[in-house]
Amino acid sequence: MALTKPIPKKIRDLFDIDPFYKKCCIADKNCDGRVQIHHNFRYGGSGRVNELWCLLPACDFHNKNADITEYKDKFDWIMIHRASPADLQKYPKVDWIQRFEYLEKKFKE
Ligand SMILES: [Zn+2]
Repeated sequence: MALTKPIPKKIRDLFDIDPFYKKCCIADKNCDGRVQIHHNFRYGGSGRVNELWCLLPACDFHNKNADITEYKDKFDWIMIHRASPADLQKYPKVDWIQRFEYLEKKFKE
């Protein structure tokens, strides 16, 4: 994706030491290709958000298909669990409670 906002170095350094970033976070039978960083959250006019909780590791396949609802929901579920309430409160235009409850119902076993 040509328009990817550069990720600040202090965040990129964390990818190297955090085992979470070693493999695709969707991790299903469709995983294929190199693991890269998926910007999972866009907000208003500022576009892609560069915060650790919404930067998720995704293989080539899941990165390319991240807009398909099944994967989008899974990415969002993982993202919301990584965020703190304070992280989410910075983006008040999203109804996080409603989104969280929907995703919990869908994915929690
Ligand atoms: Zn994958």
